[in-house]
Amino acid sequence: MQTTFTILKPDSIKDGNAGAIISRLEKEGFRILGMKMVQLTKPQAEGFYAVHKDRPFFSSLIAFMTEGPVIMMVLEGDAAIDKLRKLMGSTDPAKADAGTIRKQFAANIERNAMHGSDSQDTAAFEISYFFSQLEMV
Ligand code: UDP
Ligand code: MG
Repeated sequence: MQTTFTILKPDSIKDGNAGAIISRLEKEGFRILGMKMVQLTKPQAEGFYAVHKDRPFFSSLIAFMTEGPVIMMVLEGDAAIDKLRKLMGSTDPAKADAGTIRKQFAANIERNAMHGSDSQDTAAFEISYFFSQLEMV
């Protein structure tokens, strides 16, 4: 069993795709340990994506992630980290495999529907960045 972290990004909420994505996660066997809807502040988004702070897309990414509410979840499952990355598909939906969530719901490489942790270390950092033990069941 592993835990991983996901954010349904502002495009998913605006386009009314949150329910479909959560339903898909449940159908794929993930268990939701924690969930909340949040309007991220700029400092919160910048801290979360600090690893990308020197990339050319950083300021645009922060504007996108703070333009509307997000839904964040802690998910549990067998090999949950890799399983979620595969289910999400490539960062760029144009390169994502058929059947992936980004292929179905993402508009472009920035507005790409959801986030998923990419390793055990990042999952641990990302979960603790937004969730306390009391918020996970
Ligand atoms: N992103 C972007 N342009 C790029 C690469 C990434 O706008 O050229 C955004 C996109 O929203 C992506 C996020 O920055 O999901 C984080 O990038 P990363 O390379 O970590 O992709 P991910 O792990 O989300 O697939
Ligand atoms: Mg990433």
